[in-house]
Amino acid sequence: MDSSLQIEVTPTPSPVSPERLAEILANPGFGLHFTDHMFVVEWTPEKGWYDARVTPYAPLSIDPATAVLHYAQEIFEGMKAYRHEDGSVWTFRPEENAARMVRSARRLALPELPVGDFVASVDALVRADERWVPEPAGEKSLYVRPFMFASEVFLGVRPSQHVTYLVIASPAGAYFSKGPQPVSIWLSEDYTRAGRGGMGAAKTGGNYASSLVAQQEAIAEGCDQVAFLDAAEGKYVEELGGMNLYFVQDDGTIVTPATSGTILEGITRSSIIELCGKLGHRVVERPFTVDEWRDGVASGSITEVFACGTAAVVTPVGTLKWRGGSVGEGDQTGPVTQQVRTALVDIQYGRAEDTFGWMHRVV
Ligand SMILES: *Cc1c(COP(=O)(O)O)cnc(C)c1O
Repeated sequence: MDSSLQIEVTPTPSPVSPERLAEILANPGFGLHFTDHMFVVEWTPEKGWYDARVTPYAPLSIDPATAVLHYAQEIFEGMKAYRHEDGSVWTFRPEENAARMVRSARRLALPELPVGDFVASVDALVRADERWVPEPAGEKSLYVRPFMFASEVFLGVRPSQHVTYLVIASPAGAYFSKGPQPVSIWLSEDYTRAGRGGMGAAKTGGNYASSLVAQQEAIAEGCDQVAFLDAAEGKYVEELGGMNLYFVQDDGTIVTPATSGTILEGITRSSIIELCGKLGHRVVERPFTVDEWRDGVASGSITEVFACGTAAVVTPVGTLKWRGGSVGEGDQTGPVTQQVRTALVDIQYGRAEDTFGWMHRVV
């Protein structure tokens, strides 16, 4: 893929010591430790994208009047770099993240970073910080976070005339130390995450900001995650705060809520649709009501529910709880959930043939 960016690389004079790095990679957690470098490129309407560089990881100096701090004009992506057994390093469908960032940019009136430049930026950082990509054992990976924000110093309300795009990276451990554990879900009936014409399909910090109070409520109710319903009728299941949902039915079909502008189009979600075809499962994308979820679990016509996203890949859903009741328990991962999860993870870690051409070699 082509990129016209001239990326200048300045290696850090003080890389993390091999001993400290080994300590971090042994137990990385999530989003806690950052690599030695970061990628930066800036934009103005006159210059376009300029000054692309890989530089030592460091705090940014932000003027208090920087636009993003006031009006939240910001978008991001989330992806992973995987080390295979032979030592090579790969990303998963990076052009999909790039294309989604272009769509998010349009919605937030931010400049578009060309797909080739996005992929080149991630490749450049992962190559510079290759030693931070953990060994594959225990499903460890390097989580990569590209993001773009309004960096103009101006309090007027209009699209920023100075924009900064960065890529940072953080080693990530297995989401579940003892294999996937079912999560419990709180049904949010007071809050929604996206309405018609809103930002639901964009990967932007504002969607997360608006989900936090609902997530707080979920925790207070003893649940792990929150599920949102459509804003218009409060009838259809949309998604979790940061993961898409799948429902396995006893007739063998698998249903996932159709995306129509209010649901984030997960790359894990769309990959699972293709993967299920190959595994011989029929996937239907359609509106799915919360009553179907409740009644289906209660009657047994829904045999498994799972959530999916880059961070946790595929996660079984146990209990659904709402004000006044709950259905489902179980501490098991269902067979379809397990099969889909294994099929996907095996491609990502190079243990299964990549028949879809999803993997992109970086190192
Ligand atoms: C990122 C995200 C997802 C999952 O997308 P993936 O591309 O699969 O990681 C789902 N929902 C929301 C709201 C998200 O921000």
